[in-house]
Amino acid sequence: MRILIIEDDSLLGEGLRAGLSQHGFTADWLQEGRLALHAFQHEQFDAAVLDLGLPDMDGKDLLIEYRNRGGSIPILVLTARNGIGHKLVCLEGGADDYLIKPVDLRELAARLHILLRRREGRSTSVIRIADVELNPHAHKVSLGSEQVDLSPREFKVLHALLRSSGRVMSKEQLEQHVYGWETDVDSNAIQVHVHNIRRKLGHNVIQTIRGIGYIIDQKDQ
Ligand code: CA
Repeated sequence: MRILIIEDDSLLGEGLRAGLSQHGFTADWLQEGRLALHAFQHEQFDAAVLDLGLPDMDGKDLLIEYRNRGGSIPILVLTARNGIGHKLVCLEGGADDYLIKPVDLRELAARLHILLRRREGRSTSVIRIADVELNPHAHKVSLGSEQVDLSPREFKVLHALLRSSGRVMSKEQLEQHVYGWETDVDSNAIQVHVHNIRRKLGHNVIQTIRGIGYIIDQKDQ
């Protein structure tokens, strides 16, 4: 799951980026509102963590502008402003959750999982297709009754494909999900991850759609 953090404080922004990465998210970080609006237009994120006091614009205005443009991903406001007035303006302006700093990273991660599963219309975060079960909270994958060890990146590839099961994901989309703005990504990295997932979970778990990308299709399991 790819999260955009919008936070101007360097220490906190880097802390959130590192912390959410440790919780299994692909976390990208920007310090200015205008840059975030640009990123939302050009790249796919699953959710955003938004500070309100930004140098170039107020986070509330960013939120309202993003929603006015039709942006639909869950946005969690993370701020030091704890007045009910601020909170209501954000919730009515399209925020999905509102947390006061300082935040415990475990709670932030849990709340992001909740927002994402609600958006996908699931009552639990665990995803099951045929014999494969993935638990994003516990970071575990099993095949039947056997637990399977995936690397963190293999886990992200499998999670992205399971979440969009029935829809093809291109190599580029998967790269964005797994690596975000990390640089030095091997051009065949996704192929290698898919190869390893198939080796561990069975060849049929992921289909290749030649020239387009990869799909996990419930029908084919
Ligand atoms: Ca700030």
